Amino acid sequence: GAKSYGRSVLRYFEPKMESAMRTRRVLETELRLAIESDGFELNYQPVMDLEANRIVSFEALIRWPHPTMGPMRPDQFIPLAEETGLIVPIGEWVLREACKEAVRWSEDIGLAVNISPVQLRDRRLFQVIHNALKESGLAPERLELEITENALIAETDLTLGLLHQIRDLGVRIAMDDFGTGYSSINYLRKFPFDKIKIDRSFVTGSDQHSESTALVKMIASLGIGLGVRTTAEGVETCGEMESVRAAGCSEIQGYFLSKPITADAVMKLLAQDPQSYAR
Ligand code: C2E
Ligand code: MG
Ligand code: MG
Ligand code: MG
Repeated sequence: GAKSYGRSVLRYFEPKMESAMRTRRVLETELRLAIESDGFELNYQPVMDLEANRIVSFEALIRWPHPTMGPMRPDQFIPLAEETGLIVPIGEWVLREACKEAVRWSEDIGLAVNISPVQLRDRRLFQVIHNALKESGLAPERLELEITENALIAETDLTLGLLHQIRDLGVRIAMDDFGTGYSSINYLRKFPFDKIKIDRSFVTGSDQHSESTALVKMIASLGIGLGVRTTAEGVETCGEMESVRAAGCSEIQGYFLSKPITADAVMKLLAQDPQSYAR
């Protein structure tokens, strides 16, 4: 009968499934521990304005120095944190920590923080942002939240209202990884954005392949037309920088300028003569 069939199927899949589930459970427990014990770190990657040729902001990127598995990249634990809802306390920590760090920088340097779609579905996010700004004393105008277009698929009045509320604080919103999700162009019309971040997949080889060149140019023009800034993500070579500059992008981010660095390294970088890192 159904019962014995179910049992035999279970027996067949059990070992593999069980070990995958155990790994997940262990990782989840370790994530909880890391939240309680201040176990995460933030790195910061500079963003350079292509007109002024100087660093104008840093993007905070989370790192998890895992006790046994070594440093973990966000892609290795953010999905689980999202499934379990743990991204909410983690995201709150990121906001508070990054704002606290950014007040130490010069006042003309901005801070970008990634916000998960799961955080965006929680109306408490507004209070979390408000508190992080209050607590740190960071001017709201210096903070920019990065949201991927896929975060808006499950678009609701709540999300739209939240984004407007956040913007009313003076905080800016950037659309991250632009071009990789669905209906990107439609979202630009519906949602209040201040910046488009062009995904690395369009930027890589944009000085070599005419398709990429055309797409970067199109997105940069879209930005100019909409009156929003555009950032080319993942610029790794001088050629790519020159091609996105020619395309009309406002700023670049990528290994060509710098990899993500520690908070201490940011302070050292900002203490240098701006000309020493101009590209
Ligand atoms: P993202 O927001 O698009 O961040 C850019 C990613 O590209 C970062 O990877 C950065 O290290 C990498 N990158 C920058 N320049 C280059 C380059 O020139 N070449 C290459 N190959 N890569 C480059 P990372 O730090 O591993 O983060 C991956 C993603 O994880 C982020 O993509 C973001 O979506 C997410 N993430 C990171 N930190 C947080 C966080 O605090 N909260 C949330 N919710 N998500 C985060
Ligand atoms: Mg980002
Ligand atoms: Mg991105
Ligand atoms: Mg990305």
